Formats: sequence, structure tokens, C-alpha cells
Amino acid sequence: MLTPLLTPAVSVPVQRAVCADDDTPMSLHVDSAAGQRAEIPRSGGLAVPYVTAWSAEQNVSGEVILRPGGGVGYLDESIVDRDAYGVLWVRSASCPGAGKPVFGEVHSLRQRRAMRRLLCQVCGDAADRTPDGILWLLPDFREDWPGWPDAMANVEPPICLRCAGVSMRLCPRLRRGAAVVRVLECPVVGVRGKLYAPGQEGPILVGTDAFAFDDLRIRWVQAFSLVRQLRGCTLVMPGELTGHDS
Ligand SMILES: [Zn+2]
Repeated sequence: MLTPLLTPAVSVPVQRAVCADDDTPMSLHVDSAAGQRAEIPRSGGLAVPYVTAWSAEQNVSGEVILRPGGGVGYLDESIVDRDAYGVLWVRSASCPGAGKPVFGEVHSLRQRRAMRRLLCQVCGDAADRTPDGILWLLPDFREDWPGWPDAMANVEPPICLRCAGVSMRLCPRLRRGAAVVRVLECPVVGVRGKLYAPGQEGPILVGTDAFAFDDLRIRWVQAFSLVRQLRGCTLVMPGELTGHDS
């Protein structure tokens, strides 16, 4: 299903966040005695992963319009609607803990922040890092190509050591097969988002995909996830997992 990233086009399907596409929430039982993760919002006794969207966090983008010079934008667009590459980003309300967690959805701003700063997608603290690389926990698709997941375009933020252990035990999706990966290099290479085309009465949504920053179609994209490419990957046996417990 997954194929290596072909530079410059980020044209491959990318994996979603741990547990975020599962209907069954992952239960993280917070160790309050250790003073860890008191900031993680909870719902029904469950700690909700940092990147998970909440029902009150509506998409407040408003209408996507055609820009005079080509591409898409917002009618009331401001400088904060685009990143340093000039890419348009979805507008999402940010109020984690409000309403109910939506385990099928990742919050755009928190995904972007976690990816940019290499934060754990579950607790929001720093992801684990050793001389062997940054820690990632991915659904296991190692049969997809030799050397998987090397060169993969990835929207899934990394993870800390403690949350990796909990996730492998409690996340239904990962219990079916998880790959623990150390990654030496993970440059930000693009975005995942909605691709629009010009229509008679405005932009027409034509699909969702990942796009490299130098892809000519990028000005027709409304981004919702930041993409890093994983390079220098080493698969680790879960039982051999060691590192800096963040
Ligand atoms: Zn964590």
C-alpha cells in the first residue's frame, strides 16, 4: 500500500496517527504519583492523545476562494494563514478538552506543532531521542518495500519512550502489528491537504494527498498536516526498546 517517497513529489499515501483512526480509544492510565502528564485532557477516565481532535474544535476556515493570480486562499486571509513556504493552512479552533474526543481525527495545529518540534503525539512532551535516532511507533507495513519505512512520507508525529510502551499495550490498531523505528533524519518535506482545481464558480475539491513544498500544485492546496520524510531508519524489536524516558 505504501511506497517510498519520490522526491520532489510527495505522492505516496501516508500513515495516520497512532490510534487516531481507531474507533476504540486508547486508555492511558496516568500515573499521577509520578507527576507526569497532568496536562493531558481526559474523557471518561481516558487520557486522550495530544494530537486527537475534540468535538468543540471546529473547522473555522470559512470559504476557500480562487486567488486572482491562481491558487486558493481565504477572502479574509491574513499572514497567519500561510506558513513560511506560502502554503495555505486549514483554520481550526483550538480548545483541547472541550466536548468529546474525536478519535478518528487529528487536530491540525497540534499535529503541525508536534511534527515541527518533534513532540510525542500522545503526551505532547519531547519525543525520545538517542544517538540511534528519534523514536517512531508506526503501524507495521514492513512488507511494502525493502528497507521500509526508509524514505516514507509520514504525517505521524514521533513518540516518547513511555508512551510507546503504553501504546503498544493498549492501542487496538498497534496491537495488531506495530513497528518501533529509530530515525536518524526526518526533514520536513511537505504537507498533506486538500487539492483544489479552478471552477467556474470557485475552487473545486478534487482530492486529498501529500505534496512536496516544491510541487507546482501546492498553491492549490489547503494543508492540514505537516509531512516529514523518514531517513536512516532502523527497526527495533519492542523488547529491545531503550532510550531516554521523557
Ligand atoms: Zn509521550
